[in-house]
Amino acid sequence: MEMATITENRSFTETFYASLQELPDGERIRTCLQCGTCSGVCPFGYVMDFPPSRMIAALRANMFDRVTTSDTVWMCVSCYACTQVCPSKIPLTPGLLARTKEELLLAGEVPAELQDALANSQRYGNPLGESPRRRADWAKGIEPEVTIMARARRPVDVLWFVGDYGSYHPRVQHVSRALAKVLNALEVDFGILGSEENSDGDSQRLAGERGLFEMLAEKNGRAFRKYQFNEIITGDPHAYNALKNEYPALGIAYPVRHYTQFLVERLDQLKPLLKRELKAKIAYHDPCYLGRANGVYDEPRALLSAIPGVELVEMSHHRATSLCCGGGGGGMWLDGFQWEKARVRLSEWRVREAVAVEADILAVACPYEPPRFEDAVKVVPGAERLVVKDIVELLVEAMDL
Ligand code: SF4
Ligand code: SF4
Repeated sequence: MEMATITENRSFTETFYASLQELPDGERIRTCLQCGTCSGVCPFGYVMDFPPSRMIAALRANMFDRVTTSDTVWMCVSCYACTQVCPSKIPLTPGLLARTKEELLLAGEVPAELQDALANSQRYGNPLGESPRRRADWAKGIEPEVTIMARARRPVDVLWFVGDYGSYHPRVQHVSRALAKVLNALEVDFGILGSEENSDGDSQRLAGERGLFEMLAEKNGRAFRKYQFNEIITGDPHAYNALKNEYPALGIAYPVRHYTQFLVERLDQLKPLLKRELKAKIAYHDPCYLGRANGVYDEPRALLSAIPGVELVEMSHHRATSLCCGGGGGGMWLDGFQWEKARVRLSEWRVREAVAVEADILAVACPYEPPRFEDAVKVVPGAERLVVKDIVELLVEAMDL
């Protein structure tokens, strides 16, 4: 009986190991040094039964079933910190971690709150379970009117992929309205997909739902093909990552930029409009999927530095070592589960860092962040005066729009 179990475990581990090596750069997993740097840098490594280096040790020992019978891989927020530091350049986040979550999903071992977000994404095209018909409601009343592609039926220069939280979350809708104002002030010819936009699917992919990701990407691809535009912009680093790095393999390839990259190119036009001094000490939080995953560090800082009266300060974790807000890779939909395990939120650690450098404003550039950090501000001692703003909201304040 015991022999049969060992044989079964071996064959599961061997099949899983082989599947990892078929992924891009997957064969690098054989070069692991067991240095433990990945597990050391992982913000939740201390609560994981199997942080990345131990997962690889279990693979080598033909005991990977021990990893998939533990639920602590759901503590992984796909922040790319382990992948960034690995001296063997093993693609841990999109490979080992995402594939392990896929195994747990297949076995039905999924925290209920994540299951709900995935089911909503399948049914409604967004993890919040909102009606697709309400996707452009945030834009009502903006003047000049925001162009919705299906209604306008004309080519535009820029297609703005608004994203799930920018479309539906009441706090992040403010950020979308701010970006619309700035684009209008710069006379950018832009349009949005409205009800034809679906979730970019990247966080679902990194939470192990590759099939769902492909379904959502194909729906977006069909919508893109209906219209003429020169490039896509987005305020969502997760959408940016998907459109830039993942969609092309599915035959959906368009030039794409995060809005900070797009606006920094127009700084000469923007600067004369930034008339109001903000007189504030600002700490910028690098989002994982803008910074670590895609190397965009300078553009957000250049925009903030262009605002009169701003003093930029750096928190102890910044640029490549930035600390995750806890929302990536499904973390946005695992708050209850992760709180039960860790009794701390990553967003609270980050807010403490902003307080430590005496920042007045914590500036962000990802739609997951304003609600997470504003919740953290309410509970971190000394953070009462800290204001959380997206960069584009600060631009609007400085433009006095
Ligand atoms: S950092 Fe890379 S080489 Fe070191 S233990 Fe982790 S996976 Fe292995
Ligand atoms: S991606 Fe981030 S949270 Fe996940 S294992 Fe790596 S360091 Fe930890």
